[in-house]
Amino acid sequence: MRIGVMTSGGDAQGMNAAVRGVVRRALAARIDVVAIHEGYAGLVAGDLQPCTSTTVSRILHLGGTTLGTARCPEFRELEGRRIAVRNLVDAGVHHLAVIGGDGSLTGAMVLREEWSDHLRVLVDEGQISETEAAAHPALAIVGMVGSIDNDLWGTDRTIGCDSALHRIVHAVDTLTSTARSHQRSFVVEVMGRHCGFLALAAAICTGADHVLIPEAPSDNWQEDVVEAVRQGRQLGKRKAMVILAEGATDREGRDIEATDIVRLLQEELKIDSRVTVLGHVQRGGAPSAYDRVTATLLGVRGAERLMTMDGVDEPVVMTTQGMDVEPRPLLTCLENTQAQAKSIANRDYDAAVAARGAEFGELLSLNERLTRAPSVIEGRRGRRLLLLHIGAPSPGMNPAIRAFVRLSLQRGDTPLLAQDGARGLAERRVSEPTWQDVSGIGSLGATILGARRTHPSTDALAALDEFDIDGLVMVGGFEGLLTAETFAETGRPVALVPASISNNVPGTDLALGTDTALNVIVDAVDRLKQSAVGSRDRVFVVEVMGRRCGYLVTAGGLGSGAEIVYEHDPGITLSRLRQDAEELVRAYDAGRQVAIVLMADAASEAFGANTLSRIFRAESGGRFDTRVCVLGHLQQGDRPSPADRLLAVRLVDRAVEHAASGEGAVVVGVERGLVVTGPVGQRIEDADVPNRRRRNPVHAQWSDVLDYLRH
Ligand code: ADP
Repeated sequence: MRIGVMTSGGDAQGMNAAVRGVVRRALAARIDVVAIHEGYAGLVAGDLQPCTSTTVSRILHLGGTTLGTARCPEFRELEGRRIAVRNLVDAGVHHLAVIGGDGSLTGAMVLREEWSDHLRVLVDEGQISETEAAAHPALAIVGMVGSIDNDLWGTDRTIGCDSALHRIVHAVDTLTSTARSHQRSFVVEVMGRHCGFLALAAAICTGADHVLIPEAPSDNWQEDVVEAVRQGRQLGKRKAMVILAEGATDREGRDIEATDIVRLLQEELKIDSRVTVLGHVQRGGAPSAYDRVTATLLGVRGAERLMTMDGVDEPVVMTTQGMDVEPRPLLTCLENTQAQAKSIANRDYDAAVAARGAEFGELLSLNERLTRAPSVIEGRRGRRLLLLHIGAPSPGMNPAIRAFVRLSLQRGDTPLLAQDGARGLAERRVSEPTWQDVSGIGSLGATILGARRTHPSTDALAALDEFDIDGLVMVGGFEGLLTAETFAETGRPVALVPASISNNVPGTDLALGTDTALNVIVDAVDRLKQSAVGSRDRVFVVEVMGRRCGYLVTAGGLGSGAEIVYEHDPGITLSRLRQDAEELVRAYDAGRQVAIVLMADAASEAFGANTLSRIFRAESGGRFDTRVCVLGHLQQGDRPSPADRLLAVRLVDRAVEHAASGEGAVVVGVERGLVVTGPVGQRIEDADVPNRRRRNPVHAQWSDVLDYLRH
């Protein structure tokens, strides 16, 4: 068997990680890999080269695709595809990993259907022999979707979408500060000709006043935009932000241009308005941590799938269901994707939204509720809901607070906020925020409230009666899990939204803050590697947080391309240290210039980062120098990533619902991409309490992957 790997269609950040995953996994199984350059154009031109492990070295952190990509009109013609088949047979390939958009994957399907006809013609024409044809009876295909738009049916995220969201959210956060200074409005046009995911997600992440997307055109978009911006001004907002997906139309299917919106705001509201078209910036730049980790997993599992296939097997596309990676039939995914596009073209917008999946509908509804302030009714309103933190500050807490306040008000309930967790509650430091009080906080790191690990005292519990609290939303970590029932024993419903960069809370695949911390780690390692360019050969020992939960260090290892990863289990033994030191020496003898050893802060009782550094230096025989970098609180301090902002609003929505109308104490989490709740008691049973972590963590299924990627 020999596997061909290619990238095709529009480029997307993370494609390199997928290619690297495919190549290293196949090579680890001693299967040859051929790289096809420039997409189908290279396939037709015969630009196929054997791949070694070094072909995919130092590409994980690069945007775009180092294999090159192109649009290829020849491949749309029968003749072009016949040449492609001949080139594949010449290279001994009939197992293909295609990383591209729905166009590229459709092209692969067409090639597969025609494969035997092409072989017959090529044999008849004497271009290939009968034996060669017999050795390549059919084409096996595994697809991976590279597309910043998140536009393929059947997968939660396409490769590149999260990175594009990083670019957009960073740009809009940046524009917001200048917009506030001048009391301006900005219309930001983002990519998404047929799919509004980027625009919708960016609007939620940045607290934009209005968003226009292809799937949900309004009966009167002009009135909606003016009303949204006017309402913001009345509430005292100094800026207005409108996000426009490039494919947004009115209900009759007529395009909406950014300049139309600017003119409207100037004419109707006399507001100074500007257009920013983000364009290809969204496709560029380094891939986010999520895109690196997920695309690596897709690549590795995709190669494994391909290795088991012969050509008669149904082609699959590797999809993400939350943090899980699994194959689905390619044909079904393509047919449903095309049906989505048709729904929009036929102006069947309800069908278009429904087909985008549960999360899309959820986000649409959340955006509506987070941006439209309800009219104020005087007097006591609805249930009185309290939010407090129990645990360490974590990125994502502020968007959670904003969502809590606004979603509670939307329901007609009264939100209250406790400063400094249970201690502040005991000291009666509780406020009743307005809709506008939480404006603009969603992009800030840590928490405006202050977080403490303090358990509730009897005084804190008494305060619940004094403030007449009906239900609680706790946003916190493992300590929150252990205290939730104490609050619930007062007879009030309690919902815990897990927030912890360590991702150690049971009941959720991801906690708030984890994704942000992971981005800090991956970014820091990029910089460390860069610092070693042009200097002496170096090994960096990088210590990350996480204590005895290995999520950050494992995902950090996948996302940063670390050579060695130490987590608490199995820890660091002398025999492993010796083996790793020997491997490093071999690698530097073979020409390596920089290597990363990533360790969790509680990886070992015996060996800290400095000790490891000294041991490796002593063992290096002068081949390399070592340095230590302890990332420490940098991991807790960043602004929340787009994924954390989205997770915050989704989890808080369910938490508010529980606190207002549920019973008992629950953990609100996300599993396989869907919001789920489970009783705290059961979640504690799922926990390894002495080690403060969950029993079956998501990252346990990734431990083999790290081994394949070392080279
Ligand atoms: P994307 O893969 O990003 O959706 P395109 O739609 O441009 O990008 O497709 C990339 C390439 O895939 C095209 O240039 C063409 O070579 C090939 N392709 C797309 N659709 C088909 C098709 N229906 N039949 C054959 N080849 C196709």
